Amino acid sequence: MIRVATIGAAGRMGREICRAILEEEDFELVGGTVRPGSEHLGSDLGELCGWGRAGVAAAEDPPEDAEVLIEFTTPEVTVEHLSYRKPAVIGTTGLSDKQRAKVEGAAGSVPIVLAPNTSVGINLLREVVRDLSRKLGSGYDIELVEAHHRNKKDAPSGTALLLAREAAAGRGQKLEEVVVYGREGTSPRREGDIGIHAIRGGVVVGEHRLTFYGDGEEIEVSHRSLSRSTFAAGALRAARFVARAEPGLYSMQDVLS
Ligand code: NAD
Repeated sequence: MIRVATIGAAGRMGREICRAILEEEDFELVGGTVRPGSEHLGSDLGELCGWGRAGVAAAEDPPEDAEVLIEFTTPEVTVEHLSYRKPAVIGTTGLSDKQRAKVEGAAGSVPIVLAPNTSVGINLLREVVRDLSRKLGSGYDIELVEAHHRNKKDAPSGTALLLAREAAAGRGQKLEEVVVYGREGTSPRREGDIGIHAIRGGVVVGEHRLTFYGDGEEIEVSHRSLSRSTFAAGALRAARFVARAEPGLYSMQDVLS
């Protein structure tokens, strides 16, 4: 049994993770944290996620005996929690370069999986995108459109950046040097640009469509997440991996390979 605590247990993903842990035989939910002062402090984590009474209460910090932490909160909060110094799966997106560097630093002493998208499908698509980009070359214009629910905080999504980074790498480019976020006014396309466009509305779980526009054809790679349970299943795979891993920073590709 792997003893897991969920960080951000009252959030959309936190609840999904708690339910997935309670349903799996090889995991034990030993704790779950909520925002300090939250109305959910002391609530039963099983009831909070709609699973039924689990006998584990939401707290401000994870218990000492947690072997693995699974965190889906915000970048600022994620960085603060590096002080827990436990093997962790971090699904939080929108980390700045500085925040990512702090995660990397913490991974010097504990194993951490940093995964802006934990779904298996997206992580397989990464390879497809890199390969297509490499083979199609710079004669094709790359544009990516993503859509998420109205409450998502960061834009573009971590997944959009991840796919765009693969597309850039396939052509030997650095995304930072070619990316264009949305367009307005006089904004002609430069050769080699990679455009990213974010839509926010309703309850969309997550949609990504990356298109290679050629002169005589268009090739489209798309992914639609239908339920957050997909992300939770991937996060649990990552938790199994990180529970046995040596200190270091890992990605979902390490987990899946
Ligand atoms: P959410 O706003 O529903 O949940 C975040 C939760 O964190 C909230 O309940 C909030 O109260 C809580 N929180 C804030 N401060 C805290 C603290 N100090 N301690 C404990 N909890 C605290 O958001 P969400 O939709 O669950 O998404 C969370 C993050 O996960 C976002 O960055 C999102 O982009 C990302 N995400 C990643 C994946 C993936 O596959 N990796 C999938 C979906 C969402």
